[in-house]
Amino acid sequence: MEKIGFIGIGIMGKPMALNLIEAGYDLVVMDIDKKAVKEVTAQGAKSAETAKAVAEQTDVIITMLPDSPDVEQAVLGPDGVAEGIKAGSLFIDMSTIAPATSQKIAEVLAKKDVQALDAPVSGGEVGAINGALSIMVGGPETAFERAMPLFEIMGKNIVLIGEAGAGQVTKASNQIIVGMTIQAVAEAMNLAKKAGVDIVRVREALLGGFAQSRILDLHGQRIIDNNYKPGFKVKLHRKDMNIALQTGRELSVPLPGSALVASQMDAILAKGDGELDHSALALFLSQLSGLE
Ligand code: NAD
Repeated sequence: MEKIGFIGIGIMGKPMALNLIEAGYDLVVMDIDKKAVKEVTAQGAKSAETAKAVAEQTDVIITMLPDSPDVEQAVLGPDGVAEGIKAGSLFIDMSTIAPATSQKIAEVLAKKDVQALDAPVSGGEVGAINGALSIMVGGPETAFERAMPLFEIMGKNIVLIGEAGAGQVTKASNQIIVGMTIQAVAEAMNLAKKAGVDIVRVREALLGGFAQSRILDLHGQRIIDNNYKPGFKVKLHRKDMNIALQTGRELSVPLPGSALVASQMDAILAKGDGELDHSALALFLSQLSGLE
């Protein structure tokens, strides 16, 4: 069995690492948060002080970090993965970051005879706990095949999309659709509410028609319950909208709907509500309509 390095033991990384341990893999973990590390070493993992030390001791190194600069620093920075990684090892980044950063990392590691995959996920903490994540992968097919036994422990719907960065492009597309669909559901429910119509029945009626979606189902219920406990935080979705907008700028692709949603997320962050669930777009619109 290959020895696994796991860097970033947060909301997502912790249950993913625990599932790998439970499946019998030896893990070496690292996080700047020592409390998080303790929780995983208590379950049998070893720990290392630096990303470099993780890479020196393992064959496959997985990162699950917040944003592009975090992954870049952990891999290419001082005492990073690139300084310790052995030729023939595999690097897998499962964070949601900019496709351009994934491509840069893949290029640097290729010079060290290391294959890299970008493999962002969808499915949230529950999907991570249940080993039921959707995993969207970019990189070489041989690396994808090597990673498959690990992906099958962490996820269910696992798709190789294309070359380096393709997984991240797919995740950015996912976040555009999710963000704009929340906006659509929030606007519709808000209009119905202000018109004095019962939004419980609106959701029920719409779920049987062409406007049906998982977001109308799950976030529609959140809007009815006025429940914005995360879930997926607005501040993290704002980061992902930024990745989409930045990629759009690089490719000269207009993303007007995404820009609108991102701008509203900015207003939510400015109010200090960035820790709320991303469905709080509905709360914001409701406040603008004088309903709150
Ligand atoms: P998190 O903030 O809970 O976890 C990130 C962990 O990385 C933290 O424990 C932090 O201490 C650690 N860290 C940060 N910088 C580090 C560094 N330089 N070296 C070592 N450790 C470092 O975040 P999360 O919710 O687990 O999200 C991780 C990634 O997964 C993000 O890119 C996020 O967008 C993506 N994602 C999250 C969800 C979700 O529902 N939370 C769903 C899908 C994808």
